[in-house]
Amino acid sequence: YKKEVVRRGELPATSADGQHFRIMGNIELPEEVVAVKDHGGDGIGLFRTEFLYLSRIDFPGEQELFDQYKEVVELMSPLPVTIRTLDINGDKEIESMPSPEEANPALGLRAIRFCLKNPEIFKTQLRAILRAAAHGYVRLLLPMISGAEEITECIRILNQAAAELEQEGLEHNRDIEVGIMIEIPSAAVMADLLADMVDFFSIGTNDLVQYTLAIDRGNRHVAHLYSPMHPAVIRLIRHVVDAGRHKGKKTYMCGEMAAEPMHLPILMGMGIEELSMAPQSIPKIKNLIRKINVSEVKKLMDTLLQQSSVQDMERIIMDAYGELL
Ligand code: PEP
Ligand code: MG
Repeated sequence: YKKEVVRRGELPATSADGQHFRIMGNIELPEEVVAVKDHGGDGIGLFRTEFLYLSRIDFPGEQELFDQYKEVVELMSPLPVTIRTLDINGDKEIESMPSPEEANPALGLRAIRFCLKNPEIFKTQLRAILRAAAHGYVRLLLPMISGAEEITECIRILNQAAAELEQEGLEHNRDIEVGIMIEIPSAAVMADLLADMVDFFSIGTNDLVQYTLAIDRGNRHVAHLYSPMHPAVIRLIRHVVDAGRHKGKKTYMCGEMAAEPMHLPILMGMGIEELSMAPQSIPKIKNLIRKINVSEVKKLMDTLLQQSSVQDMERIIMDAYGELL
């Protein structure tokens, strides 16, 4: 059985009508690269970098970060590795800097907000990423971006990091794609303008659903209301993809939504060519893609976008694709 799963993963993710998709792996540790390769991943769509910052009393230094990123990048080369900068606090806490007392950590000093408040910690990570980029295909991904100013500030610090490396004569590569996570509704709404500032978008549905529907992603009392198929979420995603496309920028997805078979037709219909997920889900999703006609799902899109409830969305998908899913 395992062999069969792996073999299916090796086949390309080409739809029944010949459109190519890339199915990537999400990882947190270098060890997980093996699982992405074994399951036929087309690269790393999300490398969550929190791990090295957890369970320790100090912050990791540049060399330690560089060694880890370089290892992942070399193992995956020539395929892309999308390294996401630190996303701590919120639901991921560190010991080296106790998080402030916050009534609502998910709305607090999290991810890019933490990094911009601690630019030295951020720059250390950016330097390590730029150095690793000299050893393979690296994309930089910024988490929890809410608007334009944060991007401007991140790029300023990134340029500063590159200038320093240049001056110190350390091998690096500044010529990397820079993308933002779309996981806060304000960024989704502003996608047409933010597209001018970055090379790609990656939709983080775990947080985008949480913030759009005002439902704590970890709260079991409201878990029944948490759905990526909520029409408001689907409309937001559609807006982001279209806004990016207008500006010649690609939109990818790395939230859990990407690994759920029932959601796949709609993502293919919207034209999201790259989906990233837990390595174990890759073969299943690749296999489904090969059975679906993009031109057919596209015809369903107008109907889907006119629905006002999750139940109606799901019913339409199940009526059309239930047998495959
Ligand atoms: C997301 O929010 O969908 C995402 C991929 O990021 P994380 O789960 O690490 O917050
Ligand atoms: Mg997130």
